[in-house]
Amino acid sequence: MVFDSKNGGCFTFVFLTYICTMFKLFVASVITIVAVSCNQVVEKSKPLVSPLAIVIHGGAGYMTPENLSENDALAYSEALVNAVNEGYDALEKGVSAVDVVTLVVKLMEDSPLFNAGKGAVYNADGVQEMDAAIMDGSNLNAGAVAGLKGIKNPIEAAKAVMLFSEHVLLVGEGARKFALLQGLDTANEAYFFNENSFNKLLKIQNKQASASDLKGEKFGTVGAVCLDQFGNIAAATSTGGMTNKKYGRVGDVPVIGAGTYANNHTCAVSATGHGEFFIRNVAAFQIASLVAYKNLSVDSAANYVVQDVLKPMNGFGGVIALDKQGNISMRFNTPSMFRAFKTSHTNAQSFIF
Ligand code: ASP
Repeated sequence: MVFDSKNGGCFTFVFLTYICTMFKLFVASVITIVAVSCNQVVEKSKPLVSPLAIVIHGGAGYMTPENLSENDALAYSEALVNAVNEGYDALEKGVSAVDVVTLVVKLMEDSPLFNAGKGAVYNADGVQEMDAAIMDGSNLNAGAVAGLKGIKNPIEAAKAVMLFSEHVLLVGEGARKFALLQGLDTANEAYFFNENSFNKLLKIQNKQASASDLKGEKFGTVGAVCLDQFGNIAAATSTGGMTNKKYGRVGDVPVIGAGTYANNHTCAVSATGHGEFFIRNVAAFQIASLVAYKNLSVDSAANYVVQDVLKPMNGFGGVIALDKQGNISMRFNTPSMFRAFKTSHTNAQSFIF
């Protein structure tokens, strides 16, 4: 065979180009495979982007060391510490802030000790009408229910409104219908019956005590704020409201920005106290605004709103709050606020006074 140098050179050129291209493709594939597997390794062993923190409350009020028995104090402390520990364990397992605040508020709703769910107080008609709200600080999604009856865990209903409706707040029969459609657990009057709360209503209605004579009483609403592994914060609050409230009265809890608020860029807040004052002062949002616009720390902002805004107008109660860095706050202007917290740096601690 005669070798044609021209065609041979061309063949060599094409061949070399082919080899080069194949080699480049091979190298690119190897790089891609290595990069993908490295990423997977990085993904799997991704260090926590955030410290963990959870703060809860079981209501502010007028308990003093003199009018709260040691046994009761112990029961409240145990319930708070159990709840905060369960919440923290879930955070450690990677459960999201939204799911953890739901879990913890649900636990407190199931306890007869607190004015939420099972322990809810009675309105002027002797009916338990409940309010609850939840807010996701990562996207400002929020859900709330007001005047809800017969649903075992109002916080689940609030969460369902946030996740499965295009609305923020559902009330009364509509809220109940929606909760039933979501398949949430119902509970009857016998489940919710609470002798202490009922006696308190009778006392107030028989004028043996006035609604404003709250000595020895607590508001008892429950709430939680937390910071998860992914650096997201959330807030949830649930309540039966205030004893002898007018039928249909809605408090601060389901009013986003009043009793419940969360925004990753500022803080998460859950309030307890005389709801009308928290609504009129947009208390939770005011705290977040002080953090955003005045650069106040979350604790200074919470303290300012509780002591310098609410208290001077007899707006009694308190708040728990935290920010994305894990700074926490528990401020109140009443003699007591049932509260507990646990963070990456501290064990669970609970306080009443
Ligand atoms: N803030 C609640 C309300 O006014 C009462 C409470 O905190 O116990 O409905």
